[in-house]
Amino acid sequence: MSINDRVSQWVRPEIQAINAYHVPNPGNLIKLDAMENPYHWPEAMVEQWLALLRQTHVNRYPDPAARELTEALRHSMAIPEGMSLMLGNGSDEIIQILAMALGGKGRTVLAPEPGFVMYRMIATFCGMEYVGVPLNDDFALDLPAMLAAIEQHDPAVIYLAYPNNPTGNLFDEDAMEQIIRVANGLVVVDEAYHAFAGKSFIPRLGEFDNLLVMRTVSKLGLAGLRLGMLAGPAEWLEQFDKVRLPYNINVLTQTSATFALQHIETFEQQTAVIRGERGRLFDALSRLGKLTVYPSDANFILFRVPAGEANRIFEAIKAEGVLIKNMKADNGPLADCLRVTVGTPEENDAFLAALGKAL
Ligand SMILES: *Cc1c(COP(=O)(O)O)cnc(C)c1O
Repeated sequence: MSINDRVSQWVRPEIQAINAYHVPNPGNLIKLDAMENPYHWPEAMVEQWLALLRQTHVNRYPDPAARELTEALRHSMAIPEGMSLMLGNGSDEIIQILAMALGGKGRTVLAPEPGFVMYRMIATFCGMEYVGVPLNDDFALDLPAMLAAIEQHDPAVIYLAYPNNPTGNLFDEDAMEQIIRVANGLVVVDEAYHAFAGKSFIPRLGEFDNLLVMRTVSKLGLAGLRLGMLAGPAEWLEQFDKVRLPYNINVLTQTSATFALQHIETFEQQTAVIRGERGRLFDALSRLGKLTVYPSDANFILFRVPAGEANRIFEAIKAEGVLIKNMKADNGPLADCLRVTVGTPEENDAFLAALGKAL
């Protein structure tokens, strides 16, 4: 038997069918493809951080409950009294923990589309059904379609990214509330872009038995640490915590994130600059005339180029040294769409110049 025959005998067919999540190697390109914060820290802050790392014992296992970091996060996220918090190795791991705890035959994950691709991928990894419900043409929630799909599939978990990726908009809060009220299973509001949005469901935790809020420090400026969190009623989180691997938040992340939260004003300054640049970028893209530019409450902007031109324009921008994201949709709601992450003023200027030339 050849190795390929053995692989196809044993690896689950749904896994064999998946294309691996592809992250392009940026080389020396200006990296505006992954919603990272482009700024590092002031030198004095780096020095303080290195001093802390010097005292960190990597020979020891980390605190399995990450108590100090959890407390710091509870405080900085203003988690309501009585609500619990669970940490993950990125919010991707939290999505996986939820799938492992809620999954099984006939269990469904539901999310609006276009949306964050990991909801579908992780549902597939864990043997769950996945149902994507199309958004309206303006990327608003199609509430009747959502309610009908919830009725039909009785999903174990619904993900609502707030703001949504890759479209950048915040969904209507009343529509979300109706979804939470109608759903029998969990509704996870994914606030990955909270730092750029200023709206949140965290104050409403506890108002509904089935509402959880997920956050991450990735888009804020700590993508390299891999730290996400899930907040909500203890009854749910106690169950999910059983599935979490004991030392999922490593010592370097615990030390570094706790330190970073003590310097939150640095990140607030950085994200304020990014929000300002987002406005400037939006205006500049709109002025180019040939594009449909979608308003964004996140740190990226989705825009539609003339029909059939997305691949050419993406490659032309890359040839000028700037990497953005090609949504690679030949048809459907993201046809001809590209997505750019808001970078530093210089990076944004380089992108605008490259795009102007490409058009
Ligand atoms: C980036 C992103 C995440 C993943 O965040 P990590 O904490 O880096 O795993 C989750 N949800 C949405 C909507 C995102 O865009």
